Amino acid sequence: TKITIAIDGFSSTGKSTLAKQLAKHLGYIYVDTGAMYRAVALYAMEQGYISAETFDKESLIRDIPQVKLHFEFNADLGFAEMFLNGRNVEKEIRTIEVSGFVSKVAEVSQVRAKLVEQQQEMGKNKGIVMDGRDIGTVVFPDAELKIFMTASAETRAQRRYDELIGKGDAVSFEDVLQNVVERDYIDTHRDDSPLVIADDAIEIDNSHLTREEQFNIVLDLVNN
Ligand code: C5P
Repeated sequence: TKITIAIDGFSSTGKSTLAKQLAKHLGYIYVDTGAMYRAVALYAMEQGYISAETFDKESLIRDIPQVKLHFEFNADLGFAEMFLNGRNVEKEIRTIEVSGFVSKVAEVSQVRAKLVEQQQEMGKNKGIVMDGRDIGTVVFPDAELKIFMTASAETRAQRRYDELIGKGDAVSFEDVLQNVVERDYIDTHRDDSPLVIADDAIEIDNSHLTREEQFNIVLDLVNN
């Protein structure tokens, strides 16, 4: 029988890699909730509501009903891409610029309420792997399997750095590390749904695990 799998944890712990592998193997649907927060951050950026110096929360809150998000499965990629108001933004939401604003946008309760509702709707049938920060605590507190992923900040920054460099982005390791540390701080200190480990989650520190080792550990948990 199909279950709901919640994968939470700090930034760049490889949650999405694991979640995609699991979904593919199990024939489940994968939902990347970080992509949804990133799409709202991109919207705020494009409207000029957020910059390094300012954040016009009121305008963003006012616009929330107009921000339409949906996923479309791309068979070539093997996962669903993020669409913002009908536009494919899968690439744009992954830039370091968006990464720099997303946690501030994710602090806004009205944004969280809207996205959580949409996530619960997407996962109302079992057979789903959802990754994020609050899936096991807020979105699906009754999920049958909850994983909480951690790794050292340096390990995570190195992975994210390699990924960005691989895509041709001109970033420095220092900037990536700073972003990872900053997002961890904001995510764990916000008032609404801070990043915490659910009581019944299983913690996996993958600093010294290969993707395959990690996958096998979690697959064992699914099967038992
Ligand atoms: O998972 P990803 O790193 O793409 O998420 C980007 C940001 O979105 C996180 O740093 C966090 O601020 C926010 N987020 C959240 N709740 C989720 C998923 C992501 O607050 N469920």
